[in-house]
Amino acid sequence: MKKNKILIVGAGFAGSTIARELADAGCKVHVIDKRPHIAGNAYDEIDAHGILVHRYGPHIFHTNSERIFEYLSRFTAWHPYEHRVLGVVDGKQYPFPINRDTLNLLYGLNLDEAGAADWFEKVREPREPVRSSEDVVLNSVGRDLYEKFFLNYTRKQWGLEPSQLKAGVAARIPTRTNTDDRYFTDTFQAMPLHGYTKMFENMLDHPNIRIETGVDFAGIENISSYAHVVYTGPIDAYYGHRFGRLPYRSLSFEHEHLAGVSQFQPVGTVNYPNDHAYTRITEFKHLTGQSHPGTSIVREYPQAEGDPYYPIPRDENEALLKRYEELALAEKDVTFVGRLAQYRYYNMDQVVGAALVAAQRIREHLTARS
Ligand code: FAD
Ligand code: UDP
Repeated sequence: MKKNKILIVGAGFAGSTIARELADAGCKVHVIDKRPHIAGNAYDEIDAHGILVHRYGPHIFHTNSERIFEYLSRFTAWHPYEHRVLGVVDGKQYPFPINRDTLNLLYGLNLDEAGAADWFEKVREPREPVRSSEDVVLNSVGRDLYEKFFLNYTRKQWGLEPSQLKAGVAARIPTRTNTDDRYFTDTFQAMPLHGYTKMFENMLDHPNIRIETGVDFAGIENISSYAHVVYTGPIDAYYGHRFGRLPYRSLSFEHEHLAGVSQFQPVGTVNYPNDHAYTRITEFKHLTGQSHPGTSIVREYPQAEGDPYYPIPRDENEALLKRYEELALAEKDVTFVGRLAQYRYYNMDQVVGAALVAAQRIREHLTARS
């Protein structure tokens, strides 16, 4: 029966959320992923030394959406965690995002909140309009802080100048006149208590869901036997790159275990804007709250080639995306959802939000056809 048979390509947040929603609605859902595991880039696992690590770099869950937090809470309990980051400049670690303590420590000042606001007002380089990531940072904190914390990190992370990236990239990072040193200020900040992979196992544990890992969409022959396909891989790959390749930024992850070292660094992540080929080091025990006599860390090395991790927010890429989106819009029986399929710099919660909306639309579409 084709009527309610669904193929989902990709078992990350996008694919797994839609799989669960459609399975709950009575569809027979077949989920494939070309990787040997579920959970997409949020995949975590116990390493050879017994520490829970994130294979594809640190994933910290945060959202302002109660609906999304409640939705995921059906599949996991939570470990409360507020992420903190330090940025290394001239060998010293400073709170990042830049806050009042960053200014006082860096410049030997003793500013209060109003003093910090005055300071930013004095040093900022007003830009109008604010188009690029360079504009965003210069406009809020001025040149010295831009050069110390942003310029080289961005060059390393993207292989581009901040002036070549859209404003939204650097706008992810706030500037603060108070001393709040949390990386995120969302209402809900927590890690899945038993890890992301366990949460995904619970999402996909449903009599109407069949999962096959290690299976590429390219090898699926009987696509016409499905009533609908949900595709969460790169949209340009789906169309055989016919208009050209959408660029994605990749990373290589260097995992290391330090036996007998109970803590490597004071906070979850330390950023290295100006030193080393890697951008940041994350120590997982901070994120998960795990106790262990040793510790495991990961270094992130940005690179052009490799698995697609980041869409690159630039006007020319969005123009190319539009051409693929036109093809996608004309598809009645294929839905494109997720960070790669929509080519959007989505956080995990945004992917869940987009997937819940898409699942609702697919349900309506299937009902209208039956
Ligand atoms: P993915 O997780 O990429 O899943 C897509 C899946 O599709 C993949 O498993 C892939 O193997 C599969 N696939 C692709 N093509 C095919 C094919 N042809 N056949 C079969 N399968 C295919 N977000 C946060 O909210 N907080 C964070 O702290 C955070 N940190 C991040 C750190 C890094 C280093 C990265 C790269 C991302 C981070 N994110 C973070 C973003 C988060 O990873 C994504 O928003 C989310 O995982 C995207 O889910 P998705 O389902 O769209 O894509
Ligand atoms: N950024 C920076 N210096 C830092 C941290 C971030 O210049 O110490 C810039 C950089 O361009 C980065 C962007 O801000 O790509 C967004 O940072 P975020 O930590 O949100 O990136 P992600 O966790 O998605 O890799």
